[in-house]
Amino acid sequence: MISVNKVWKTYGSGETAVHALRGIDLNVMKGDFVALLGPSGCGKSSLLHLLGAMDVPSKGDITFNDQSLGNLNQRQLAEHRLMRIGFIFQTFNLIPSLTAMENVALPMKFAGVGTKEANHKAHQLLEQVQLSNRSTHLPSELSGGQRQRVAIARALGNNPDLILADEPTGNLDSENGEMIMELLLNLNREGRTIVMVTHNPEWTDKISRVVRMRDGKLIESQQRELQIK
Ligand code: ADP
Ligand code: MG
Repeated sequence: MISVNKVWKTYGSGETAVHALRGIDLNVMKGDFVALLGPSGCGKSSLLHLLGAMDVPSKGDITFNDQSLGNLNQRQLAEHRLMRIGFIFQTFNLIPSLTAMENVALPMKFAGVGTKEANHKAHQLLEQVQLSNRSTHLPSELSGGQRQRVAIARALGNNPDLILADEPTGNLDSENGEMIMELLLNLNREGRTIVMVTHNPEWTDKISRVVRMRDGKLIESQQRELQIK
């Protein structure tokens, strides 16, 4: 699905340049669940942003379903992000003035889905994350774990090919973190492709592929056979 070829990401220039990524090669197949591990500052978020077409490489190339992202213009990139990628962030990034349901429906409305249909689908997605009884609540009226479940529902609205999660359990206690991990594992079992950044190695024994980073490079990639539960 995604092929990252000799990708570099440099922020700034001259003496203050930071080489966040230094020649990354990575392939993500349809149906993979990839955990991206590594110490703070090693380039995990930078790589995730490139995978999600939120930023462009300084050098190298990324293809998505055999299409080079470098060939897309701004409008095409925006459409690509909206329709093919679902983002989940450590800080949830919900819109505070919108209810849970409105937050989930918003990307569908951006994609041109009618209000009635978008609301209906939003309700189904909130049901899937066991929050249908909170659909009219504002983010401020929800716990961290509930906010992250709303964010997961929102990420699924346009039926994305790829889900990108940047430390999705980073702001949660272990019980809520576990619930979010279970949801993501279930989405993967249903066939969703997921790349998740984490610096919590605790989760990774359940994940089929673990990629470790250090100083802007991949240092290790493990593929594991998991027992189907
Ligand atoms: P991680 O997610 O693994 O903590 P990041 O990808 O956020 O790492 O950052 C990698 C390196 O790039 C760090 O040294 C960070 O300070 C730097 N960096 C990240 N984003 C920017 C930016 N927008 N401008 C300048 N430097 C940045
Ligand atoms: Mg990060």
